[in-house]
Amino acid sequence: MRRKFAAGNWKMNGLEADLEELTQLCALHPDPAVDLMIAPPAPLISSAVVHVGVHPLAIGGQDCHPEISGAHTGDISAVMLKDAGASHVILGHSERRADHGEGDALVRAKTQAAHRAGLTAIVCVGETLAQRDSGETLEVIGAQLQGSLPDLINAAKTVLAYEPVWAIGTGKIPTLKEIGQVHSFMRNTLSTRFGEETGDRLRLLYGGSVKPSNAADIFAVADVDGALVGGASLKAEDFTGIISALEEAAE
Ligand code: PEP
Repeated sequence: MRRKFAAGNWKMNGLEADLEELTQLCALHPDPAVDLMIAPPAPLISSAVVHVGVHPLAIGGQDCHPEISGAHTGDISAVMLKDAGASHVILGHSERRADHGEGDALVRAKTQAAHRAGLTAIVCVGETLAQRDSGETLEVIGAQLQGSLPDLINAAKTVLAYEPVWAIGTGKIPTLKEIGQVHSFMRNTLSTRFGEETGDRLRLLYGGSVKPSNAADIFAVADVDGALVGGASLKAEDFTGIISALEEAAE
């Protein structure tokens, strides 16, 4: 049985004072029935870890460099994230792929670096609207999965997130049937490549405009093991509705 997972991505939002949202989130879910993670901007990671204390809310990074150290101004390695107290890292987010030209091979190298550092990698895949409209969705997702994941996968420390690019921050979501089709395709693709046991073990999150109002419907879709949430993870009062919906789906 895969444990459900609600992950929040603060992107380039949040200052020290906003970490109070984490304190509130921990208070709202003192004993969560699902795994929880927030990825704040990198400068807040150490402080976020202190705010969370012994509560099982995990703290993650939003990207890492594939190398451990070196002449890479502005970059952060997986080892550094780990050292700052992070346990997870989001990789291959469509904003990284679009803003920084990241391709699948780089995402794969980052995934391997994350695993070497002992971090759980949340690897994102998703089609653009043009790709969906031209019927290429499954082909695109299949290619991204193939290219972004190493052959020797660390299943215990890998989570996949299906995030249609056109659904991120837009308030639009695919139909539940479309989400189900992609998740079932991902499960089959992963089982074929890594074997039934590993394919069945990997958690598949949906991401893109998840809100308290649509969360329960999305979580009822087969093979959706949770959500990667952007905007609605910034405020504890929004994220708590999504977490509660996921806890109900886990019952
Ligand atoms: C995201 O950035 O991963 C995301 C899903 O954003 P939002 O929830 O705001 O659409």
